[in-house]
Amino acid sequence: MERKPLIAGNWKMYKTPAESEEAARRLAELTRGLTGADVLVAPAHTALVLVSRALAGSDVLLGAQNLHWEKEGAFTGEISAQMLVGSGCSHVIIGHSERRQYFGETDETVRRRVEAALEAGLVPIVCVGETLEERKSGDTLKVLDKQISGGLKKIFLKDGHSLVVAYEPVWAIGTGLTATPQEAQEAHAHIRKRLAGLYGETTAAAIRILYGGSVKPENIRELMARPDIDGALVGGASLAPETFARIARFGETESGLST
Ligand code: PEP
Repeated sequence: MERKPLIAGNWKMYKTPAESEEAARRLAELTRGLTGADVLVAPAHTALVLVSRALAGSDVLLGAQNLHWEKEGAFTGEISAQMLVGSGCSHVIIGHSERRQYFGETDETVRRRVEAALEAGLVPIVCVGETLEERKSGDTLKVLDKQISGGLKKIFLKDGHSLVVAYEPVWAIGTGLTATPQEAQEAHAHIRKRLAGLYGETTAAAIRILYGGSVKPENIRELMARPDIDGALVGGASLAPETFARIARFGETESGLST
């Protein structure tokens, strides 16, 4: 099945609202006319509305970096799916390793957030991935199994377009280390097999599985050449619009690159 690549930028806790707006405007210009991939940015919550306006009329999609599972209530500091929809989001990153590592995210809280996102019509980008220790002890696939079965337990999907999964080996995030295309492909194929077990072959074949971990213009092509790698979740290299646009235009010839 043909899966259109998705190149998603996670701006983490970088950029003021004004800086985000400016970067979004530039990215919209730099990706104008791009048909080979969907492009998405996930700025901080404080910048969502401004970025949504800056992207109006472009094809760049807007995502958030997290959400809370309740619709509203006394949850100081939290943001609901409905608030994200009202801010112009179509996607939301869930269970990023930084949230698992520093903010107590578990497979069960991932599951609740996924449920809330889907109910509000948002596409969850569910992050999974092993630590260096887990990889070294040969537990990578076991960890992925646990994160997928826990995070998607009793989650109903209407089709494969309503979910994105991001495989992000924790040891490759922000470190300059990248999984080899072969290592990434193995993990992605395994994830797709598990998704097929949960949702059937047809749905699993339509779910985009992104790779994340030090993706750059220099390594995107070899990653994208693998059959189960359907795009990238990009942290550091998404902050400069020029660099990010080069990643998004990975499928074009060098002479076709606008940067
Ligand atoms: C990320 O934050 O999801 C990520 C993959 O970061 P980086 O590209 O900087 O490794």
